[in-house]
Amino acid sequence: MTATFPAPPPRSADPWAAHPARIERIVDEIPGVRTYEIVPMEPALRGRWRFAAGQFNMLQLPGIGEAAISISSDADEPDVLAHTIRAVGNVTDALARLGPGAELLLRGPFGRPWPDRELAGRDVVIVAGGLGLASQRAAVYRLARTHAACRSATLLLGAKRPEGLLYAAEHESWRRAGIDVVPVVDAAAPGWSGRTGLVTGLLEELPLDPTRATILCCGPDPMIGAVAAVALRRGVAAEAIFVSLERNMGCGFGHCGLCQLGPFFVCHDGPVFRWDRVAPLLAVPGL
Ligand SMILES: Cc1cc2nc3c(=O)[nH]c(=O)nc-3n(C[C@H](O)[C@H](O)[C@H](O)COP(=O)(O)OP(=O)(O)OC[C@H]3O[C@@H](n4cnc5c(N)ncnc54)[C@H](O)[C@@H]3O)c2cc1C
Repeated sequence: MTATFPAPPPRSADPWAAHPARIERIVDEIPGVRTYEIVPMEPALRGRWRFAAGQFNMLQLPGIGEAAISISSDADEPDVLAHTIRAVGNVTDALARLGPGAELLLRGPFGRPWPDRELAGRDVVIVAGGLGLASQRAAVYRLARTHAACRSATLLLGAKRPEGLLYAAEHESWRRAGIDVVPVVDAAAPGWSGRTGLVTGLLEELPLDPTRATILCCGPDPMIGAVAAVALRRGVAAEAIFVSLERNMGCGFGHCGLCQLGPFFVCHDGPVFRWDRVAPLLAVPGL
């Protein structure tokens, strides 16, 4: 197959330029995770922050720092930019203390997105681990809108516990749009009647024509490796497996080298990579 990446949409001429933005709404998602709906304040940018599914912004709090965060809203509705964030450190903890109306700075969008036109006619399987789904939600929205173009769409979503399943309130509307949403949890809890186990187990069992399947996977590195191994074992070509990687990032556009992975800068050449390109690098300890 000849899957190529779509060119990322053009971003602002100066990638260092940080634009003021206001938090319009905050949605509590799962414990420790909130979605911040943000609107650029410059009239020229409002509704015009064009991005593609899988890209990220750098969110900046002056005096505190910057963090790379996936854009988790619908790329076809650019009025509001959503970022789904777990508070784990400097910037994300400080963000967690902000409320609606607070201001921050935004740079981006950056990075190579999920493949799009290459999904036409394919059996698309999105495999998400925990917060990984944030980087894929825009792709889910796109599939929900254009699923007729692909042959089928499945979302395998894993979490440690039922209360950790991200965007649960939207799963039913995704199903109505033709996406087969299958959640699985490591450990069941009272009231849980769904699947128990790992997403890799779901992928093992999924009825699949390996010549037609395209896998889009995001989650912790070990989960990504395990998902790719199952897909390959089932006969899916490495060229039809796409993964989104997380690395510490500085500039966001391939300038500073902080996120170097072998010959790649994850911010610029990724974060979405075709598996055959990064598998040899991920196999090198410490790279
Ligand atoms: C392309 C890309 C997209 C990303 N998208 C998102 C997103 O949508 N939502 C989101 O919440 N994060 C996302 N991240 C991760 C986020 O950029 C980092 O977690 C970042 O370090 C947070 O900045 P901070 O200043 O709050 O934490 P830091 O001060 O940088 O980190 C504090 C401590 O937390 C640890 N830590 C960092 N990240 C994690 C983590 N994910 N889980 C557990 N411990 C961690 C660090 O090792 C460090 O010890 C993304 C990263 C990349 C590269």
